[in-house]
Amino acid sequence: MKYAILGDIHSNWEALTAVLADAERRGVTDYACVGDVVGYNADPAACLEAVRERTALTVRGNHDHYCSNSEDLDGFHPLAADVVAWTRGQLSEEQVAYLHGLPYSRTVRGFTLVHSTLDAPERWGYVYDKLEAEANFNYQRTAVCFFGHTHVPLAFERAAEIDGGPYATVRVQLGRRYFINVGSVGQPRDGDPRAAYATYDMASGMVELHRVAYDIGAAQQKIRDAGLPARLAVRLAAGS
Ligand code: ZN
Repeated sequence: MKYAILGDIHSNWEALTAVLADAERRGVTDYACVGDVVGYNADPAACLEAVRERTALTVRGNHDHYCSNSEDLDGFHPLAADVVAWTRGQLSEEQVAYLHGLPYSRTVRGFTLVHSTLDAPERWGYVYDKLEAEANFNYQRTAVCFFGHTHVPLAFERAAEIDGGPYATVRVQLGRRYFINVGSVGQPRDGDPRAAYATYDMASGMVELHRVAYDIGAAQQKIRDAGLPARLAVRLAAGS
């Protein structure tokens, strides 16, 4: 089995379809998603359906949460809050119910999926460093846990000590724990504007990060056409 782990798709249809084509070329057999299917970009319904079609293994991201709950958006970034309201209007009741039903984490055949961090997934904490990763590891019961939320692909490994940083590949070794951010399909923030996702080959224990060029101009045009904040189009080209 070879999984493609997708995260932070954020309604970016051009990025998602490029990633799905790349995954197919690489012989991926199964899909999983670490959340934030919607938010920021202009194709929430199409992205949600494409993910649902391929996998039942999706967890709830903060954008999925706020787009499917009628809580107020205090504390949410104003740019993101505008888009949450717009996104709610683009989804059917049934699609909103689907997002509403997503769990905060799930365990799948030896690995775990979470959007933010396992120690308090509903608080949407960001993991950028070893200390934050350590809090997660205390709650991680599988060898590998994939996560998202920061839109920055980083891999943390716990052996005698915790180590972490950017990665291209990770080989999963017995007796160690791995907490791996798969990067963002639809809004990368590590300075590389190409879509990011990871594959996990269960037989070889190899996790690989992939970057995929896509039609950024088309995604930007849709943001403008939808009347979404222009800043959201600008940041796609910058990967920030
Ligand atoms: Zn996100």
